[in-house]
Formats: sequence, C-alpha cells, structure tokens
Amino acid sequence: MKIKDIGEFGFIERLAEKFKGLQPEGQRGIGDDCAVYPVTNERSALLTTDLLVENIHFLRDRLKPEELGYKSLAVNLSDIAAMGGKATGSYLSLAIPEEMEVEWLDGFMDGYRELSEKYRVPLMGGDTTRSPDMLVVNVCVTGEQENRLIKYRHTALAGDLLCTTGNLGDSAGGLQVLLKDIPRGGMQELLVQRHHKPEPALKEGAWLAQQDAVHAMMDLSDGMDSDLRHILKASGLSAEICLEKLPLSKELKRVCWEWRWNVYELAVAGGEDYQLLFSLDPQAFEAVSREYESVFQKPLYMLGQLKTGIGDIQYLLHEKEIKLTGEGFRHF
Ligand code: ADP
Ligand code: MG
Repeated sequence: MKIKDIGEFGFIERLAEKFKGLQPEGQRGIGDDCAVYPVTNERSALLTTDLLVENIHFLRDRLKPEELGYKSLAVNLSDIAAMGGKATGSYLSLAIPEEMEVEWLDGFMDGYRELSEKYRVPLMGGDTTRSPDMLVVNVCVTGEQENRLIKYRHTALAGDLLCTTGNLGDSAGGLQVLLKDIPRGGMQELLVQRHHKPEPALKEGAWLAQQDAVHAMMDLSDGMDSDLRHILKASGLSAEICLEKLPLSKELKRVCWEWRWNVYELAVAGGEDYQLLFSLDPQAFEAVSREYESVFQKPLYMLGQLKTGIGDIQYLLHEKEIKLTGEGFRHF
C-alpha cells in the first residue's frame, strides 16, 4: 500500500492508533491544532509544530526570504490562536542546501524576527543541518492558556452558528496568480501578499477564548471545507454553509471575475487563509459580534450552522443546494 492510498489524514489516524494508551490522563495530543499539557489545575501549556518544504509549501524563487521567514512562524502562531492561547516561545529548525546565500538566510531571519517582535515571541532554540537540495523549515511554538478558556474542535454543539474572523480565498487566489504566471501588481499583488504574509489571528483567538458562547475553534490552513470536516468529525455533527455569506474581499472578487475563476471554489476549498473558524451559541451571536466589532473595528462573519448528522457539509446559494467540486489541499 502506498501512502497516497490512505492520504495524510489516514496516515495520522494510523499513527495515532499506534500510540494510543501512552497518553497520561488530562493531556491532549494528536487531533487538535495544538497539544495540551496541564501544568497546574488552572493552566496548560500548548505546543504545535509545522513543516514547510521547498516546492511543496513554497517556491523559493517566487517569494522574498523575509516573506518565507514571516510565514514560517505565522502558520505556527495561527495554531496557538486556534486554541485561544498566548504564544510563549518558538524553535526554528532548518535543513539548508550548501549553496545557499547567507544574505538570503539573513532576509529569512529578518522576516521571522519581524513577526516574533510583533507578538513578543522569543526564539528559544532549534536545529540546523545540511540538506541535499531543498530548503526545509520546521517551526515549533509553545503557548499557554487557562484550562477553562482553551478551545477545542470536539466541543461544537448542534445549532451553533459557524463563524469566521475574516476573508476566505484570498490566499488561494494569490497562489493561482503565482501558479498561472499572471502578471502581479494591483489587485493580484494584494492576493499574493496575503498568500505570502498571512497574519496569525492571535489577538482575535485570545479574545474569542474569553467567550463562553464560543464552543469549538480551529484555524483555516488546508481550506474551509477540509478543515470544517475536522470539527464535524470531532464533534459528531453536520453543517450547512450559505455561500452568499462567505466573506470575500473585493480584490478576490475582481480577480476571479477577470480570470473567470469560481470565487466560491477558491473560498471553500482554497487553503492558507489562517482565519479562525469557530462555532458560537446562536443566542449569543448578536452580543458577541457587537462586542467583537467594537474591540477589533471589523466584523465577525457568520457562514452557516451546525446540525445533527454524520459529517456532511451542505452548500446552499440563496437557499438552493450547490455541489462544489474543489477539495482542500491534499498532501498525498
Ligand atoms: P494543523 O493544520 O492544525 O497544523 P494538521 O492537519 O497538520 O494540523 O495535523 C492534525 C493533527 O495531527 C495535529 O494534532 C498534529 O499534531 C497531528 N500530526 C500530524 N502529523 C503528525 C505526525 N507525523 N506525528 C504525530 N502527529 C501528527
Ligand atoms: Mg491548525
């Protein structure tokens, strides 16, 4: 059997099964955006790691080293945000081809440092080794939060509204611009920027963590459709998504119109927006969204609702059911 036959998530399930039973009571490991280690009765440590491989996650000649440095940390901080945590430190491991320019690596570190400084996350360590040809970047981030505030994927309830913190599909639009060699500049460039320099929603995540009405939360890394399925599987629910409610930037709408791309496919199946997706008690929607808007000067977006059922997602456009063909990013 080849790994492509079982896929990334089939493989993760296989290894989770092998290690089942080793986990002490109270700890949570594989299956959420971060692992959770109780430290005291009140607080837990959070830990997450992500790997970026040249030509899989990035094309070295299409982005600036500063952007790759920024993004490598951002995708990990986003997993801390997804649990509602505060980031406390990062570890950076690099496998570097020997012909690589030190100036390029300095640029990488400048970008990594820019984001570290923004959220006051110190670099605590890492590892450096030679790589035969491709650059490989692994980042690990630690965080913390009060146990009662940490948000998981398995705690969504039927009837909850599904909400997100911002626009979907911009990053996927930017990736299409790069892959199809479309001239950059103007609106295209803005989308490419969102692909190369995603912003981790740390402040939003920590604020949402304070809201009891937020039941489940995760970050959108692989694409809304694929990521939402994790909440559905973990919580044992189904969902209904209203496509006309998806938050779409005017840049994405314009570029999609110009190049005849299906904007809903990009927003639903495209990855790497790093917005937060969360489920919210419908009774609290008005109060939470009003308060959120006054704190962050931007709205929360409601996309749909969770229902009882077995992990299905139903897409509606103005109440008519629609079939979308796109899938989230699959590694195998
Ligand atoms: P995210 O996109 O939030 O980083 P992933 O989809 O990459 O999460 O991973 C899903 C879950 O599987 C996470 O809990 C992650 O820690 C775990 N996981 C992924 N790959 C491995 C691996 N090789 N060994 C152990 N756990 C893994
Ligand atoms: Mg995640």
